[in-house]
Amino acid sequence: MEKKQFKAESKRLLDLMINSIYTHREIFLRELISNASDAIDKMYYKALVDESLTFNKDDYFIKISIDKDNREIKISDTGIGMTEEELDDNLGVIAKSGSLQFKKENEEKDGHDIIGQFGVGFYSAFLVAENVTVISKAFGSDKAYKWESTGVEGYTIEECEKATVGTDIILKLKDNNEDENYDEYLNEYTLRNLIKKYSNFITYPIKMDITGSKVKEGTENEYEDYVEEQTINSMVPIWRKNKNELTKEDYENFYKEKHFGFDNPLKHLHISVDGAISYNAILYIPENMPYDFYTKEYEKGLELYSKGVLIMNKCGDLLPDYFGFVKGIVDSEDLSLNISREVLQHDRQLKLIAKNIKNKIKGELENMLKNHRDDYEKFYKAFGRTLKFGVYSDFGKDKEVLQNLLMFYSSKEKKMVTLAEYVERMAEDQKYIYYASGESIERIEKLPQTELVADKGYEILYFTEDIDEFAIRMLMNYKEKEFKSVSSGDLGIEEKDNENESSKDDDNKELYEAMKNVLASRVVKVKTSKRLKNHPVCLANEGDLTIEMEKVLNSMPDSEGVKADKVLEINTNHEVFNALRDAFSNDKEKFNLYTELLYNQALLIEGLSVADPVEFSNGICKLMK
Ligand code: ADP
Ligand code: MG
Repeated sequence: MEKKQFKAESKRLLDLMINSIYTHREIFLRELISNASDAIDKMYYKALVDESLTFNKDDYFIKISIDKDNREIKISDTGIGMTEEELDDNLGVIAKSGSLQFKKENEEKDGHDIIGQFGVGFYSAFLVAENVTVISKAFGSDKAYKWESTGVEGYTIEECEKATVGTDIILKLKDNNEDENYDEYLNEYTLRNLIKKYSNFITYPIKMDITGSKVKEGTENEYEDYVEEQTINSMVPIWRKNKNELTKEDYENFYKEKHFGFDNPLKHLHISVDGAISYNAILYIPENMPYDFYTKEYEKGLELYSKGVLIMNKCGDLLPDYFGFVKGIVDSEDLSLNISREVLQHDRQLKLIAKNIKNKIKGELENMLKNHRDDYEKFYKAFGRTLKFGVYSDFGKDKEVLQNLLMFYSSKEKKMVTLAEYVERMAEDQKYIYYASGESIERIEKLPQTELVADKGYEILYFTEDIDEFAIRMLMNYKEKEFKSVSSGDLGIEEKDNENESSKDDDNKELYEAMKNVLASRVVKVKTSKRLKNHPVCLANEGDLTIEMEKVLNSMPDSEGVKADKVLEINTNHEVFNALRDAFSNDKEKFNLYTELLYNQALLIEGLSVADPVEFSNGICKLMK
C-alpha cells in the first residue's frame, strides 16, 4: 500500500513528539478525549437541529478500553466520524499552524518540557504510542476507513469494516525503557485518575471497564474479580458547577483542555447570572499575548453554548474588540439552538449577554488594578495597546469604559501610573496633563522639549506607542484636565519674563525671517524658545497635528504624506546663538549653513530623518575645516 507523507511542518512536530525527553506524556489522553468530545458535539448538534434524525442521549459516549496482552489502549467515540478524505486532511497536517512556531521559540528558552504547557492535538498520541490506528466511519457514509501510522515515515489509509458511526483510536504503546514505563497507561487506575484530572467536565460519559472484587457466591471469604462498566467523569460541565467546589487547578485544566492559551491564565471569572437574562460563563484573562494577537489572523470570540450544547466555536459578538484577548465559554438557556450566525448577530439576548460580560470584564480589570497591581501591570504589558485602541475606535464611543484602565510611564515615578494617580498628584498651579512622545523611555528622557516642564516640577507621561497620542486626543481630557504635549506651542506655563521673550523675538525678527527663508516650507515659523535650557534648538508644533502623529500617519501603507506645522525654536541663551547672530551680520553663506545644520539637528533629536544626510555630513565637515 502506498505510504502518504505528512506535511513538512507536521513532520517536524511529530519528530519532536516522538523524541523529546518529556515528563507530561499523559496529556495525550486529554487531547484524544477532547477530540472525541468535539466529534460528538458535532453529531449531537446535527441530531438536534435536524428534525428527520431521531436520537437517544445514551447513544453519545466515549469509551476507553485496555488490552494488556497487546499493550494497546483504545479510545472510541460515537461522534460524527471522518471520511477517507477527512482522515487524510485532518490527520496529515497540524491543525494549528502556529503551534510549531510557538514550540520552537519556547524550546530554545526552556528546553524540552514546554510541550506539556499546551495541547498539540492528535499528534500527542505519539508521545506514548509507537503505532497509531484510527478507524472511522463518518455520519452519512456506508464505508469505514483505517488510518495507520508509526510516526514520521508517513501513514496509510485503507477501507475497512466498522459497524457504527464514530471513531476508534488505537494506540500501541512504545516499549518501556530506562526513563519511561509506558505500561503504567495499561493500568485502569492510572487511566481513571487521568480522566478525572483532565477530562472530568466533558459533558458526555467517559466509560471504562473497571475491575472490582467481591465475595464469591456460596463462600464466605473467597474473593473473585468482576468487571463493571463505569462512567468516570462527573459530566456536569465546569461552568455549571458551584464555584466553591472548584479549585484553581480545575480552572487551569479547563483552560488547557480548551486550548485557550499556551500559558496559565492570569485570572479567571466564573459568572452565573439569573434574571432578565440568564447565563453561565467562565472567562479567562491570559497572562501572555498570543503570538498572533496583533495580526489579522487573530479571531476574538467566546465558545457559545445553548443549554449545554455547543452552537458556535468563536462567537465574536460576545466581546468588544478591545477585550478581544478574553477567552472562555458562555452557556445560556435563552438562546435558540437553531440560530444562524446572521440572526445571532442581531439577537437581543445575545446583545444583553455581551453587555453584561463587558461590564464584568471591566470590573475585574479595575479590581485587579486596585488590588493586584503586579498582575495588572503584567496584563497591561501584554494587552494595554488593545485598550488604547479601544479608546480611539468608534470615535471614542467607549472611552468612558476604558479611561481608568489606562497606564503610562511617569517621568516622576519612573514606573507605570494611571491617569487618576497623575491628576491626584498635580501641582496646584498646573493646568494640564503633560505628555511627551517618542520611541522609547530613554529617548524621551533626553528630549529637549521636556526641559521646561520638568524644571517646573511637573510630572510628564511618556507616550512610547504609536496609538498613545491618538487615543489621548480622543479622550480630550481626564477629570476635566486637558492633555498637553510638551512640544506644543503654548505650554500654559506662565513665565515672568514672558514679555522679555517676545521682545527678544522682536530683537531677532530679521534673523528669524532670514532663517525661515532658508528653510522655506519645511517650517512655518522660527522663534525664540521658552522651554529650552541646555539645548540650542528644538522643534515644536502649531495646530492639531503633532510631529509624533505625523510620523505615525506617514508610516502607514497608504499614507498621503501629512505634515505637522513645525516651529523651529531657538535657545537665545545658548552660545551657539551668538555664533548664529555673528554669521547673520557678517557671513551670509555661513548663516545659511548654520540654519540648515540647526534645523537638521532638531529633526534628529525628534527622531525624524534628515532629508539629505550626505549634505548634512558635508556641512559638518565644512565647519570642522
Ligand atoms: P484540533 O482538535 O485542535 O482541531 P487535533 O490535532 O486535535 O486538532 O485534531 C485535528 C482534527 O482531526 C480535528 O479538528 C478533527 O477534525 C479531526 N479529528 C480528530 N479526532 C477526531 C475524532 N475522534 N472524530 C472525528 N474527527 C476527529
Ligand atoms: Mg484536538
